[in-house]
Amino acid sequence: MAVPTTKEPPWALIEKVIALERRKGYQDEAVIGGLEAFLELHWPEGAALVRGYATMSPDDRERALAHLEEAIDRRKREKFRALSVPIEEAPGVGKRVAKLLRKLGIETVEDLLTTFPRRLEDRSRRVPIAQVKDGEAVTVQGAVRAKSRIKVRPKLELIKVAVDDGTGLLFAIWFNQPWIWDEVEQGKEYSFFGKVQIRFGERQMENPVWEPAGKDFHTGRWVPIYPSTEGLSQGALRAIIKRTLGRFGPLIEDLLPEEVRKRQKLLSRRQAIVGIHFPDGPQGFEAARRTLAFEELFLLQLGLALRKKRWREEGGKALVPDPDMVRKFLENLPFKLTESQERALRAIERDLRAPYPMMRLLQGDVGSGKTVVAAGACVMAISAGTQAAVMAPTEILAEQHFLVFQDLLRGLPIRTELLLGSVRGKDRGRILEELSRGEIDLLIGTHALFQEGVEFKDLGLAVIDEQHRFGVVQREALKKKGKGTNILVMSATPIPRTVALTLYGEFSISVLSEMPIPQKNVRTVWVSESRREEVYAEVEQLLRAGEKGYVIFPLVEESEEMDLRAATAAHEELSRRFPWAGVGLMHGRLPPEEKRRVMEAFRRGEIRLLVSTTVVEVGLDVRDATFLVIEHADRFGLSQLHQLRGRIGRQGQPAVCFAIADPTTEEARRRLSAFRDIDDGFRIAEEDLRIRGPGDLLGTAQHGFVSRLKVADLIRDLGLLEAAREEAFRLAREEVPGYLVAEVERRFGEALERLEV
Ligand code: ADP
Ligand code: MG
Repeated sequence: MAVPTTKEPPWALIEKVIALERRKGYQDEAVIGGLEAFLELHWPEGAALVRGYATMSPDDRERALAHLEEAIDRRKREKFRALSVPIEEAPGVGKRVAKLLRKLGIETVEDLLTTFPRRLEDRSRRVPIAQVKDGEAVTVQGAVRAKSRIKVRPKLELIKVAVDDGTGLLFAIWFNQPWIWDEVEQGKEYSFFGKVQIRFGERQMENPVWEPAGKDFHTGRWVPIYPSTEGLSQGALRAIIKRTLGRFGPLIEDLLPEEVRKRQKLLSRRQAIVGIHFPDGPQGFEAARRTLAFEELFLLQLGLALRKKRWREEGGKALVPDPDMVRKFLENLPFKLTESQERALRAIERDLRAPYPMMRLLQGDVGSGKTVVAAGACVMAISAGTQAAVMAPTEILAEQHFLVFQDLLRGLPIRTELLLGSVRGKDRGRILEELSRGEIDLLIGTHALFQEGVEFKDLGLAVIDEQHRFGVVQREALKKKGKGTNILVMSATPIPRTVALTLYGEFSISVLSEMPIPQKNVRTVWVSESRREEVYAEVEQLLRAGEKGYVIFPLVEESEEMDLRAATAAHEELSRRFPWAGVGLMHGRLPPEEKRRVMEAFRRGEIRLLVSTTVVEVGLDVRDATFLVIEHADRFGLSQLHQLRGRIGRQGQPAVCFAIADPTTEEARRRLSAFRDIDDGFRIAEEDLRIRGPGDLLGTAQHGFVSRLKVADLIRDLGLLEAAREEAFRLAREEVPGYLVAEVERRFGEALERLEV
């Protein structure tokens, strides 16, 4: 099918002429002479804006061209709006159909035109009837020679039509579709697509797709199959899209700057939209898909780039770390940093020294040593004369960080305090007081750190230990607290690169790619519930041999009471069974004092079997734990499971993880076998994305953000995403045309805002 033609002015060409003229300092002979006439020909409205161009002064020319550009921008914005009219304006769409389309999430003409097919069906093979083979799906074309109606049973009527193409006969058969009787006329030519069946020597097609010969719309080509809803057939939706494309096609305007389109070898937007509905085959379809996916990703990345730019323009203080203090910190460490830890610290120092706030994501597998890097960053910020804060997702983790940091910072002139939600009264007052006077250098805590009433004297760095909660919300709260504050986010487990580039799109990324301690030491076994007893028999042996470890129960909000009871019951049972080993219980509802006592006892080995809900998942560093039993392992996410497994064998000593589960869904089965078979966190993260899909992985708050991607696929399109990101960030370094900003706002504005809540 031909691409609809357009009478649109050649915007790209006009823009090129403007750019040329600018470069030449408004003195280009060819432009001066020809601009007006050129515009007169293609865009009279524009010509009016540069009337008398040849005789203007360079200053006036500059002004005139600026007006011209504004006018182009306005026109483009209008164009995009022209497509965002309600779906009722599409030809053939009445109230009834509109309602059905809305069910599919199609609100506007643009939504309709960019409805992305779920797949393509190959109906392109045309075969002479004499050559059709049993079981093949093909298109045949021929004249209707005879029709018959057969009542097989009271509720089963069959229409049988003999089709003749000169080489042979084929029978098209429909069941219970009486209207076909009048629609298929004897003597006329039609084209049929369907699966051929040869029965008793007779060629048949049951319920074929058919249309008058020569249409080549529902048959005889590669046909897009759309998401559907009851009451709206594929054929009907396809016809609506075709008519709408006929009317609105000419209004489809290119969004991507021409240079970008050329560099990335993309189609025009119009070609791409036509190409997904009228593909000439899988390759043409892929080229069209690629263009539309790129466009989406580009706009999304442009939104992120603009936000980053705005954030940077707010400015920040350049921090200059004291090299002596940093050296002392490094010399104090009981080990040598890995190469990637060093690289991350150098990048952080560069960011701190820059006159804009750092936004850096530190990722690495469980046990890759992120904490030391975070501590180093704090030393840098503090040695530069500011304060630092470390925010952990739970109180237990905050306390652990407090201990670990004190250890790492020993001997340095740094005063560290712990602030938890449960710290009240005089203690709290004193901490807040000293904090605001700048006497506390490093404050560690939970989100309580960024609550009302907590005032830093000069917060230079905030470290956020996010675990896998994608704590966009905290991050934004923090931005509000300290304008220009440097931010370092640590993720608990690796994040797939596509996700990192979108959800953390404004961040620079440091990856800790090697493990300080080889981690091939943890054996993972997946056992069925029926073999639980064998697991606990092994646990008994381990405990008798002096080992320590965890039994983990899932805990989710919806079934919290039940989950807690399960953990408590197990604790009672195991206490009776292994009283000599010291069996402890840990869960989120325990009073902070009690949590602390249990953790301390576990660390010291007075408790050697710790029954716990998921609270330990988040980064506890008890180095001599060597076994882990995960009950109802099918209820955990893959990354969560991996994070749990990271709790054992932390010094490279052999360790074992038992996942007890009888999964009931295919998804859970895939998750558990991936968990058993993969021990690399980066591969786990990708597998998690593949199994769960982006929406689910990101959780509800971010879902809207990614669900706006109609074409791009965060699993497949990494290469495209990287290219789009590069182009978007490149463009954002310069002036971004207003129509593009408007388009970013229109498509992603709400989602980008939501990230900011
Ligand atoms: P994670 O990245 O999971 O948060 P941690 O920061 O808790 O990892 O580090 C895991 C363990 O490895 C800790 O016990 C830490 O002291 C140790 N560690 C960190 N860096 C190194 C290193 N370069 N060499 C040896 N051990 C290290
Ligand atoms: Mg950690």
